[in-house]
Amino acid sequence: MNKKSNNHTKPLGGIIVISAPSGAGKTSVCSAIVKSSRSIVYSISYTTRCPRQGEKNGREYFFVDESEFKKMIEEKKFAEWAKVHGNYYGTSKDLLDSVLKTRRNILLEIDVQGGINIKKQYPQACMIFIMTPDIKTLEKRLTARDKDCKKIINVRLNNAKKELKYLNKYEYLVINKQLNETIDTVKTIIKSLEYKIEKNQKYF
Ligand code: 5GP
Repeated sequence: MNKKSNNHTKPLGGIIVISAPSGAGKTSVCSAIVKSSRSIVYSISYTTRCPRQGEKNGREYFFVDESEFKKMIEEKKFAEWAKVHGNYYGTSKDLLDSVLKTRRNILLEIDVQGGINIKKQYPQACMIFIMTPDIKTLEKRLTARDKDCKKIINVRLNNAKKELKYLNKYEYLVINKQLNETIDTVKTIIKSLEYKIEKNQKYF
């Protein structure tokens, strides 16, 4: 082994992108993952949508108005941003970079447009897609959670069908049949990232 190959820089943390149609269980999975490990930090996005009951500014999202969001776009504050279901959402570039520097992993719970955009800039990002066993089950879950009216549910179902077309941009597909099993599967995928060759340069 020559000297040069020992002269590596320490690897940065990893990016984990989790996308899913709304109602597929992504938020429950993400919060369980973040609670289970101190080395995974949740990326709190900025959004122009109104807070839902129980949501707190700076916890689920940073809630901003449209003019502030657009100013942030101009100032290049976002690693990615997208319009989803009529509202703007964006991932803070500062937060992303600062977490990566601490060599922890950052979890991005974002839509497919955002996921694809992140993957282009950070090819090492781990891309996980969560889905219900089928569209019918998704419809049942959206109806059962009683958060949205029929019209909104239909918009979300149509969006889900569109999102599924981008499945090939992802590396892992986890079918959420049973929440605890899904959480364990996602944890296993994340755990496996530690064994990637590029994460283990100290052995070379
Ligand atoms: P909700 O309003 O239900 O919390 O989220 C709506 C959608 O926006 C979800 O698919 C969620 O993953 C996505 N989303 C949340 N934050 C971001 C973000 O920063 N960027 C992008 N592209 N999508 C996001």
